[in-house]
Amino acid sequence: MTDKHEKSAGRVCLVGAGPGDAGLITRYGHALLCDADVVIHDALVLPALLQETKPTAELIDVGKRHADHKMTQDEINALLVEKAQQGGLVVRLKGGDPFLFGRGGEEAAYVAAHGIRCDIVPGVTAGVAAPSMVGIPVTHRRHASSVTFITGHEDPDKPESSHDYAALAGLIGAGGTLCVYMGMNKLDLIVEQLQRQGVSAEMPAAVVQWGATPRQRSVRSTVGQLADDVRDSGCYAPAIIVIGQVAGIDEAGMQTYTHRPLFGKRIVITRTRTQASSHAAHLSALGAEILEAPTLRIEEPDDATWAKIDDALRHLDRYDWLVLTSANGVAMLADRMAHLGLDSRSFAPVKIAAIGNATGGALFDRLHVHSDLTPRTYVAESLAAELLEAGAANQRLLLLRADIARQALPELLGEAGAAIDEFPIYRNVPETELPVHVLDVLRRGKVDWITFTSSSTVRNMIELLGDERDLLQNVKVASIGPITSKTARELGLTVTVEAEPSNMDGLVEAMVRYEMNGQ
Ligand code: SAH
Repeated sequence: MTDKHEKSAGRVCLVGAGPGDAGLITRYGHALLCDADVVIHDALVLPALLQETKPTAELIDVGKRHADHKMTQDEINALLVEKAQQGGLVVRLKGGDPFLFGRGGEEAAYVAAHGIRCDIVPGVTAGVAAPSMVGIPVTHRRHASSVTFITGHEDPDKPESSHDYAALAGLIGAGGTLCVYMGMNKLDLIVEQLQRQGVSAEMPAAVVQWGATPRQRSVRSTVGQLADDVRDSGCYAPAIIVIGQVAGIDEAGMQTYTHRPLFGKRIVITRTRTQASSHAAHLSALGAEILEAPTLRIEEPDDATWAKIDDALRHLDRYDWLVLTSANGVAMLADRMAHLGLDSRSFAPVKIAAIGNATGGALFDRLHVHSDLTPRTYVAESLAAELLEAGAANQRLLLLRADIARQALPELLGEAGAAIDEFPIYRNVPETELPVHVLDVLRRGKVDWITFTSSSTVRNMIELLGDERDLLQNVKVASIGPITSKTARELGLTVTVEAEPSNMDGLVEAMVRYEMNGQ
């Protein structure tokens, strides 16, 4: 789908990111984003969208001010060409649709003029998406048979507005809809001009700020009142102004975005960098704003340990069971098998136990094998008990897991007479500092939830906060299971909800239940 063979030539794809929500990018755009070597994006593109890029992808925010300097359009054009000339796939990710008020046309022309292939992937534009997220259809069989998109931000070199307000007023009067992008600074002027040209002060009007994102807010009003109502509400850019009969449509049940169960909640997630993205995507889809605070990094074992693991993997017939206790372990195992030139046939002589459905799922996704045993509850004690029930007492087990795992599993099995080879197939290395923006939001008291997915994430988070550990006092804590909760309590935290079952879905479910029912 993404023309991998053309990578060496270097090319640019102008991709529409949609209005913000990670679910509103096109499938083609998403595939390119996942494959990109370089992503050059605007400030309006939310972090949730960037989480699925390759770990090696270079992410460049050209919307941000660097030392009080915002990149000019000429600099962005030059950067696109420079990166494409280095080879690889350059994705220019732009909010909404790349050709609608986004200078995409200029960028595409510049890139093409340099002999570089440039593809365009359309996107869902804010002028349609933001109104729809509050239940305003921009056209409607009874109320509006045309829609006009204008920008409130015009070329500063032009002395006069290029908009023909008489014509716009005529369109609205004839039952059309007007959607204004980048118009919040000129709101007074726009509504005044329209009224002067005959639009009634009673004509419905609305503003939707940060549509289709966890920060969505909106104001419903009339042309006569809109400027005052917006000032009172404190809504600001980025927002779409909608004027016309459709802005008055307010059917119960049409408020699609703000009805999401975790709408607007800020959630800090503490996982390893590699694990975080699917969890984050799930929470974002429920309307939450995600702040990632990786507390752990996964690293490979040392050479001596690899040598022992390699030997075991080449001779799996020495064992009765292979026991895996995390999706990380499975990922490391799959990569190592590929490295050794082994495939799933190696598993034929052994039975496989997986601690939970995430581990079992990873096993199937990565290696296409099913586990023979998954305990009813996803903790080491249950796994040990069920392995023993399955006859593991006097058998040989190969246990591949993290270097800092609890000893309960090998101890219980060992006491029952099992012969265990335990090798750490990955190392959990604590991160040394929290991302600055996460600390900043915590200090401002703006975090609703923090999720912990293992005892070590709790310990590391507390360690990373140091003297500022009290910042978590007013944050609701979601824990993956009883062991993690116990660690959290020992470290002075109050656990608000605990996952049931003890997996990522259970964790999300518990937060949703709490937010819906207050429990
Ligand atoms: N190419 C973009 C528009 C870029 S101009 C598109 O097709 O949507 C930037 C303007 O778009 C902002 O000033 C605002 O008016 C609007 N905008 C972008 N994202 C928005 C959002 N999520 N909610 C409301 N307005 C948005």
